[in-house]
Amino acid sequence: MDAEAFRKHGKEMVDYVADYLEGIKDRRPLSNVDPGYLCKLIPEQAPEDPEKWEDVFGDIERVIMPGVTHWHSPQFHAYFPTSNSYAAICADMLSDGIACIGFSWMSSPACTELEVVMMDWLAKMLQLPKDFLSGGKGGGVIQGTASEATLVALLASRSRTLLKHSDTTDSGDRTDALTMSKLVAYCSDQSHSSVERACLFGAVRCHKVESDENEQMAGSSLAAAIASDKEKGLIPFFCVATLGTTPSCAFDSLQEIGPVCEEADIWLHIDAAYAGSSFICPEFRPLLDGVEFADSFNFNPHKWLMVNFDCSAMWFKNATYVVDAFNVDPLYLRHQHQGHAPDYRHWQIPLGRRFRSLKLWFVLRLYGIKALQAHIRKQVNLAHEFEKLVVVDERFQVTHPVMLGLVCFKLRQQSNEVNKLLLTKINDDGRIHMVPSSSKGTYFLRFAVCAVNTELSDIQFAWKVIQELASTVLTESKTGVKDQPKLL
Ligand SMILES: *Cc1c(COP(=O)(O)O)cnc(C)c1O
Repeated sequence: MDAEAFRKHGKEMVDYVADYLEGIKDRRPLSNVDPGYLCKLIPEQAPEDPEKWEDVFGDIERVIMPGVTHWHSPQFHAYFPTSNSYAAICADMLSDGIACIGFSWMSSPACTELEVVMMDWLAKMLQLPKDFLSGGKGGGVIQGTASEATLVALLASRSRTLLKHSDTTDSGDRTDALTMSKLVAYCSDQSHSSVERACLFGAVRCHKVESDENEQMAGSSLAAAIASDKEKGLIPFFCVATLGTTPSCAFDSLQEIGPVCEEADIWLHIDAAYAGSSFICPEFRPLLDGVEFADSFNFNPHKWLMVNFDCSAMWFKNATYVVDAFNVDPLYLRHQHQGHAPDYRHWQIPLGRRFRSLKLWFVLRLYGIKALQAHIRKQVNLAHEFEKLVVVDERFQVTHPVMLGLVCFKLRQQSNEVNKLLLTKINDDGRIHMVPSSSKGTYFLRFAVCAVNTELSDIQFAWKVIQELASTVLTESKTGVKDQPKLL
């Protein structure tokens, strides 16, 4: 494709994307293809000779769309949202055009410098403590995902602890391996699975602290876990607190956990992947109180702040630990301005990095803080509207407090099996899409307000579908009639 063809077809693609998003309501939110569907639709080998644009373009609807789950359908209520905005898509086009690899300041100064400023803008929007801003020891970086942020925080804290605990033996060997074998990290049983994975990657023990009846990790439980591990001769070094847990959007108490970590000299990392965006609204900002105890903090603008995947914002109070931990300094990456601006390669796992701050710059300028706040507020209100609908139907109960845009509920006094059956029916039916969760032995359904263009009518529609299918499930469970077995 040459520049002339790009001018023409690029515009066709822009139209296709706008048409797709405008007409997304007419598509089934959850794809229902069978595994292996796609290889039957395309050749086994790449073509020797170039094909025509029209043929490739035409195959989007034939090959790709049947297997797409439409996350931006207002009938999509699964997981947590992921953002999508035309402003961010335009910025990503520019990023693709520039196509630099911004591993060091020198490799593309704008890529680094815009990121520094955007992370400060965001930090101020969230009213993060000044320690997290650039200019001193602290600062922000854009990671790909919250999972990477947790891993990077764990590795940085691991090296901080190794420095503190390891020694050199008489024969001159470092005792890192011995220290490593004693390290233990903490999170709650409600933490995201990526925390446990970070511990596996980092080769350290993961102590999952049992959450209380509100799904929160209490300071006293954490303190007890630390004390018992210390008694066993282990070295507590890292703790992840979650603000807005994935199963039920619960908030660990930073005010309790913070002092416990401080006392035990444990690195506190905060995972607020979903909920973090809401802290730009003054009425939700108290949920972040206690952040001053944290050594690192992370949330995903790509979840709820109109920035397309991937854009995970992470801050350090003292970035020297992460920079020192991963600083290998080959000659070909050195440059004469080293030390005057961050070389972000030290702050992350890969070497290469995209120009992701463009997405933030475009979104923050083209919307402004007020419109972003309005977006968060609207979605939280829609969740409360859904909550009201659940509350007035006596067959149902809301299982957890509705803090932001997630409503957890179940059929009252019905077994886990009956609730599972309801969820299966909802997803088989296909008019809306949801996923379940469970905690302390109870299975429940999660209704998340996801797509940007979700309206009250979509919430009401979803509730009608759920009510209708619940009636079927309840009749069946009463009479013992099961679904007719499908004829093969
Ligand atoms: C979504 C989520 C994650 C994972 O986010 P990625 O960016 O996909 O890694 C981690 N923690 C919490 C609390 C989440 O909600």
